[in-house]
Amino acid sequence: MTSQWGRVRSRLQTEVGEAEYRAWLRQMTLGPIEGDEVTVHLPTRFLRDWVRSHYGERLNALWHSEDPGIRRVDIRVGRGLVADGPAESLAPPAASDDAESFAAASATPPVRSHVTRAEERMDGRDTLAVTLEPRFTFDRFVVGKPNEFAYACARRVAERPACTGFNPLFLYGGVGLGKTHLMHAIAWEIADISGKSRAMVAYMSAERFMYRFIAAIRSQSTIEFKEQLRSVGVLMVDDLQFLIGKDNTQEEFFHTFNALVDAGKQIVVSADKSPSDLSGLEDRLRTRLGCGMVADLHATTYELRISILEAKAAAAAVSVPPKVLEFLAHRITSNVRELEGALNRLIAHANLFGREITLETSQEVLHDILRAHDRRITIEEIQRKVAEHWGLRLTDMASSRRARAVARPRQVAMYLAKQLTSRSLPEIGRRFGNRDHTTVMHAVARVGELIARDAAFGEEVETLRRMLEG
Ligand code: ADP
Ligand code: MG
Repeated sequence: MTSQWGRVRSRLQTEVGEAEYRAWLRQMTLGPIEGDEVTVHLPTRFLRDWVRSHYGERLNALWHSEDPGIRRVDIRVGRGLVADGPAESLAPPAASDDAESFAAASATPPVRSHVTRAEERMDGRDTLAVTLEPRFTFDRFVVGKPNEFAYACARRVAERPACTGFNPLFLYGGVGLGKTHLMHAIAWEIADISGKSRAMVAYMSAERFMYRFIAAIRSQSTIEFKEQLRSVGVLMVDDLQFLIGKDNTQEEFFHTFNALVDAGKQIVVSADKSPSDLSGLEDRLRTRLGCGMVADLHATTYELRISILEAKAAAAAVSVPPKVLEFLAHRITSNVRELEGALNRLIAHANLFGREITLETSQEVLHDILRAHDRRITIEEIQRKVAEHWGLRLTDMASSRRARAVARPRQVAMYLAKQLTSRSLPEIGRRFGNRDHTTVMHAVARVGELIARDAAFGEEVETLRRMLEG
């Protein structure tokens, strides 16, 4: 049981990366196993909720693959029986010397879990410790159409902090598209340029900001906290959407923000939405956030995904057949984090078993990720998109009309349903007005033929597929 737990943790660690593991998962302990359910404990409710929503599914899947008898991982607050051991010792030190000297005035090691008691006992010295992921540098950021603007803005801010028009820099985009990577890259770059001259860069997630703030209130050291924040040259706050509904913290952030901008310091903020779409954030804060440079990270394209995979495989010095890279880029379209996680898992698997990476092993090793992806696209979504594309009604998808203008799109929808979901032919047939599975089979074959013969049609179907996956 302990060794299984050790393996689950180290696999998770490989997948999510060192920094993330340390921040959220290191404090997991194993509780009792009862029947097909295992319990994992975390010390605070905050950590529990976070781990549940961000890693719950992966924990389930990893446990299940270690021990098929386990069907559910229950994540609770408390202390378990088996403390964190092996996974920790496998880990390289999270931060290089650079990172430490870079931690500005801080005397504490930069790596700390986010909500330990020690932190709440804030002594006014460890407030601005910086945890930077060594991998998140500009030269490891792959640039493509969807992110070139955000990348250029980040570069610019790193070269000339607080220059007019770029302050604040507001980066936004969906999860896993590189916001945190760019922010760390700015911090590394500034640290590099200024050497040991203590450029005083503070980077923290919005929740960390909040915890610091609350801890400061509790220990009656808000004045020190504010002074410290206002003493930095560059303040970066990641995932600002977290402050929605946290009015006091927002207020504090707003004042800090104004004080810094007025003093000619650089602010970099990230969020999952643009300032105008962040409803629930105070209007005056929203307005100020939007008045510098707002840059958005778009969903990845196939081309970008391929470049990223190539770069990551090269960085890991592993040869992955182009077919496998194409397969991953086609199938894992949600975000870079998942793409990277999938590749890491393939690499780890290949190392572990000394086997070459092939298309077959990839499908096998990644079956749960691939399945999770399929689940996201429903037959109804496909029908809706296809109908919309050809100006039909949704009901046409299930109707018995056989006019070509209706029948062809319907066939395309069946084809896409076969490709993008894990539904069986009879199931697909049922959803298209109770048609027979042979009709679906025929449609799939027919559309395949047409794609091969007619490039324009092929492109149309490909566009639809991409819209559905993206
Ligand atoms: P976000 O903060 O937007 O949720 P992250 O910055 O944490 O996303 O990125 C998730 C993972 O994907 C990280 O490991 C990061 O290095 C990687 N990543 C994202 N975009 C790129 C890119 N363009 N090139 C290389 N790696 C990337
Ligand atoms: Mg992030």
